[in-house]
Amino acid sequence: MPEEPVTAYVGLGANLGDREAAIEAALRALHWPPDVMVVRRSSLYETAPVGVTDQPDFLNAVAELRTTLSPRELLARILQLERQLGRVRTQRWGPRVIDIDILLYGDEALAEPGLTVPHPRMAERAFVLRPLAEIAPEAKLPDGETVQKKWQFLAERGNNTSVKPV
Ligand code: ATP
Ligand code: CA
Ligand code: CA
Repeated sequence: MPEEPVTAYVGLGANLGDREAAIEAALRALHWPPDVMVVRRSSLYETAPVGVTDQPDFLNAVAELRTTLSPRELLARILQLERQLGRVRTQRWGPRVIDIDILLYGDEALAEPGLTVPHPRMAERAFVLRPLAEIAPEAKLPDGETVQKKWQFLAERGNNTSVKPV
């Protein structure tokens, strides 16, 4: 019997080379029926780097997937895709041609070596919450808050200024 697909969300980011081309190529490559369907995607946002700030601005987007892959299988596909698109890992949080993170996978919570879902830093990141609020305002974060509420909270504290629709 085929397994029921799960709704998952991924975040995409790029800040080297043709950023838009990299994100669009990643979205096309992620759509791999019947295992992975990209059912919705946000628009693109230009965002100032967080953490390591001495690097070019990012383009960010998020996508909603319906997938029969397990979280591990999805991660393996994502890491392979990042390599295919030319990502080279150097410094942590450094510049990259493409970054794809699993944000949410159904309502599952996992903390394993090399895979934590929901993504542990997503709730503080305007560049994640802003595009996610566009396509999934009612999605729930680990603390039970909706994406929309959390985004509003960040925006009210002025954390929204560095994320601009393209
Ligand atoms: P951050 O996770 O803070 O956004 P990053 O995306 O720059 O940082 P990477 O170098 O892309 O970090 O990834 C390092 C490792 O993180 C990956 O090899 C992967 O094993 C692990 N990882 C853990 N949880 C996740 C997740 N939810 N999505 C993607 N990778 C994850
Ligand atoms: Ca990331
Ligand atoms: Ca990553």
